[in-house]
This record gives sequence, C-alpha cells and structure tokens, in this order.
Amino acid sequence: MLIDVRNLAGERKEFSFTEDMNISRSGIDVPCTVNIAGTVYKAYSEYIVEGKVKAVLNLSCDLCLTPFETRLDFDFNEVYSDTPDTEGELWELSDKAIDLKPAVVADIMLLLPMQVLCSEQCKGLCPKCGHNLNDGDCGCDRGYVNPQFEGLLKLFNDK
Ligand SMILES: [Zn+2]
Ligand SMILES: [Zn+2]
Repeated sequence: MLIDVRNLAGERKEFSFTEDMNISRSGIDVPCTVNIAGTVYKAYSEYIVEGKVKAVLNLSCDLCLTPFETRLDFDFNEVYSDTPDTEGELWELSDKAIDLKPAVVADIMLLLPMQVLCSEQCKGLCPKCGHNLNDGDCGCDRGYVNPQFEGLLKLFNDK
C-alpha cells in the first residue's frame, strides 16, 4: 500500500490496492482482506489522501469462538507530510512514498467493538464441558452450588 509521490504535482492521482494482512486484536491475529481506492494530491508540503476502504475480517466470536466474517466500509481521509510534524497530527512519508497501511489498520482497530460476537443472541460456551450452547443444550448443571450450602441442604433434608 505504497504510493510513490516523487512525480506528484498538482493533479489528483488515483490509486487502488488490495492486500491480505493480519491485524492483531488482543494479541490474536485476525486475517483480513483490505481494499483501498481513492485519490491523492499535493498541497504545499502536504499530501491529501481521500479514499474508501472495504475490509473483510475473519473474526472469531469472543464468547463461543466460532469464526465469522465481518465487513467494514468506511471513508479514509488522511494528510501526509514530508516535513517532520512537530505536533504529531500528520502521518509522515516513508522515503518519498506514502504508506497507507498503518493508518488503514489504525482505522479498522478503532471501528472494531470491544467485544465481537457472532450474533447478539450468542449464548457462548458451557463453562463445564465447553459445548457451544448455540447448538443446543449439553445437559450440564450450570447453576452454581456452594459446596458448604450443599452440606447444609443435605442436613436439612435428612431431618
Ligand atoms: Zn458466538
Ligand atoms: Zn456442558
């Protein structure tokens, strides 16, 4: 996702990239295919990039671990500078080229919710046997019984 800007003058230059990559989310690699298409033009010492990103992410549900696909479509607007930016608001060029990837990855990370679920109704996994409860019940007794209370209950029932 590198745009060579050495020969860029006042006109808009079109670009389009598609790349398979892994995005790290909470330490787990999420494979995704990212397409970005748009234009770039130079304004003084800055490069204005305007485009659209279409990403397909192969996430795993945080509750039941089932893999599922998510699509993200969003507008991409960033400004790159070939002079060091003291305020840290602009992306810097890397060797006379714009590397779109860090900004695209940062945008995708921002758009992902804290918890990703295969569906809002996901029931998760049984904490006892690991069965996926979306596939039906496993029959485990998942009600928490305090062992001390169980003893008292037994005494009570004996009388
Ligand atoms: Zn799930
Ligand atoms: Zn179970």
